[in-house]
Amino acid sequence: MIVTIDGPAGSGKSTAARGLAQRLGFDFLNTGAMYRAVALAVTRANIPIGDAARIVELLGRTLLEMPNERVLLNQEDVTELIRQPAISDAASRVAVVPHVRATLVGWQRQIAQGRNMVCEGRDQGSVVFPDSPCKFYLHAGLETRAARRMAELGLKGCASTPSRVLEELKIRDERDQTRDVGPLIAADDALWIETDGLNIDQVVDRLEAHVRCRLG
Ligand code: C5P
Repeated sequence: MIVTIDGPAGSGKSTAARGLAQRLGFDFLNTGAMYRAVALAVTRANIPIGDAARIVELLGRTLLEMPNERVLLNQEDVTELIRQPAISDAASRVAVVPHVRATLVGWQRQIAQGRNMVCEGRDQGSVVFPDSPCKFYLHAGLETRAARRMAELGLKGCASTPSRVLEELKIRDERDQTRDVGPLIAADDALWIETDGLNIDQVVDRLEAHVRCRLG
């Protein structure tokens, strides 16, 4: 069974998805990490985001593996590298390219094939797993999300300012919501959860209760 969790950056979906997967004994797929890894590959190859043909060619010879929440790009562990703010921005730009989306959607379906999995991203309920019986959309106000992002960056030792983080989130939200293919959107049948004012355990409690109810 596939459970999908979508939502904007900083809505707490990665942490919640990981927590839910643990409680259910499911695997966890962070699809944002896949877009980030592709962005890193494209950046390293010096390919302009507008050059779809070269990106397609690059993807054709790119091996992306995600064992135990690590991200391996052509067998190199890039798990930490792809969390940098510059890669967040590049990921949301590369995620606009339709061929990149089509390729990653295919990889995501392949990875999830036959497994019990919590899949987290922007388009998991709307595009990648439309038949999932359990879909969630996590949301939080911009200020809350920026504060969470600041805390996360601080833990990783990356310096930034609240206003800069807020501005970066706004730009990414706008790009993710307005692209033509696979935009950030709540699927019609997704349960919308506002996470402002909720701690992570409270969020996971709600998700778990809903899934267990669905499972009967
Ligand atoms: O989730 P995360 O913030 O790590 O994702 C980085 C970027 O990857 C997002 O801003 C979005 O543009 C893109 N993404 C996407 N579809 C997904 C997951 C992430 O377009 N399913």
